[in-house]
Amino acid sequence: PEVEQFEAFLTDPSGVQRGKILRREELVGTYKHGRPLPCSILSLDITGADVEETGLVWDEGDSDRACMPVPGTLTLSPWRATPTAQLVLTSYEKDGSASEADPRHAVARVVERLDQAGYHPVAAIELEFYLLDREAMLGGRPRPPVGKSGFRQGPLQAYLVQDLEDFSPFLDAVYAGARAMGLPARTLISEYAPGQFEIVLGHREDALRAADDAILYKRLVKGVAEQHGYVATFMAKPYANYSGSGMHVHASLADASGQNLFAGEGEANPLLKSAIGGLLATMAESMAFFAPNANSYRRFKPNSYAPVGPAWAIDNRSVPVRVTAGPPASRHLEQRVCGADANPYVALAVVLAGMLEGIEKGIDPGAPIVGNGYEQIPPSLPTTWHGALAAAASSDFLPRQLGARFVEIFLAIKKAECERFFAEIPDLDYSLYLRLA
Ligand code: GLU
Ligand code: MG
Ligand code: MG
Repeated sequence: PEVEQFEAFLTDPSGVQRGKILRREELVGTYKHGRPLPCSILSLDITGADVEETGLVWDEGDSDRACMPVPGTLTLSPWRATPTAQLVLTSYEKDGSASEADPRHAVARVVERLDQAGYHPVAAIELEFYLLDREAMLGGRPRPPVGKSGFRQGPLQAYLVQDLEDFSPFLDAVYAGARAMGLPARTLISEYAPGQFEIVLGHREDALRAADDAILYKRLVKGVAEQHGYVATFMAKPYANYSGSGMHVHASLADASGQNLFAGEGEANPLLKSAIGGLLATMAESMAFFAPNANSYRRFKPNSYAPVGPAWAIDNRSVPVRVTAGPPASRHLEQRVCGADANPYVALAVVLAGMLEGIEKGIDPGAPIVGNGYEQIPPSLPTTWHGALAAAASSDFLPRQLGARFVEIFLAIKKAECERFFAEIPDLDYSLYLRLA
């Protein structure tokens, strides 16, 4: 069927897509002139509230910015009943320069600096999510879904092929959708908890494309879930007793001919080591970007595979930076700190910036850990939202590598959201303290 309409959207600093739905006839004009969207779109917190401290809201009376299509991102929206396409946009200022608040440009700036230094980043993003029972969702608390066998997922789930079968109507539709959209969905696993799944997206030689993929893939999973009567969530920790959902960022650096610069010399590869050194040295101040929400911090529990003791290791999931053990030509690093709730553009920008920082300064990461990192490395990264925001506020690395204005806007949004969150009194306060205090 002919596509009748398309959605054109930006991804805001919190990772939320905001934009318009347009008739098919508007497509040519959108490619020629872009789509005007109010500049305050990039100043909203995750709830959609304006954050005045960004300085964007009343900037020129909230004037429009031309948002241009990102080449190669016009894809179908296979879950929609009305034949619909979607298009990723990116924002430009009136003088034609890239809007600094747009997280997509933050990645582009870091990629360009790496490229200029002769290191071409290759990246992939791996996302976990939970499928939830829709009925329970409407009641406010999440609950695992029921598969086609009629069996409700319980706690004794891990990597079961039977789950993949039980949820095959949903999972097959996700795969078919990914194919129709040109997303490199590679492998699928039923994860370590009821209703938790993970799909690995293949590496992209255009690293920015890996973040676009992640955005499009999240929309696909959520859309197909609804189509099948479920809800899919990428929140970091939906259940206190089950593992959180992570977003693992995979990266390597290639030379001009596409050869992997991490391939030679095993774990002693000097470029790999400095990139890891930079990641570890900048991890504490970067936490607010990897764990951007109040809920993100509930994920960091001992032995949860979301490590907060800064160290690295080969083929080892108990440290934040894992180097893969496979064939040298595909050797790359995996950063395991980011939650599935992190904005893929922001997370990728900060990971690549950390690698660049390490290379520029020749930072030594120390020796790789052998064995259980949870037992050997003190968990010194910030594991509270306030702590992470404070560490980011005094960072010199973040504004230097990512753009001062971008960092200022991102942190203003998150600080306002954090204050608003803790200003509310949750039900738990009353059930614990109302009678007994
Ligand atoms: N679920 C873990 C996390 O929160 C990751 C588990 C894995 O290594 O796949 O990041
Ligand atoms: Mg996983
Ligand atoms: Mg992984």
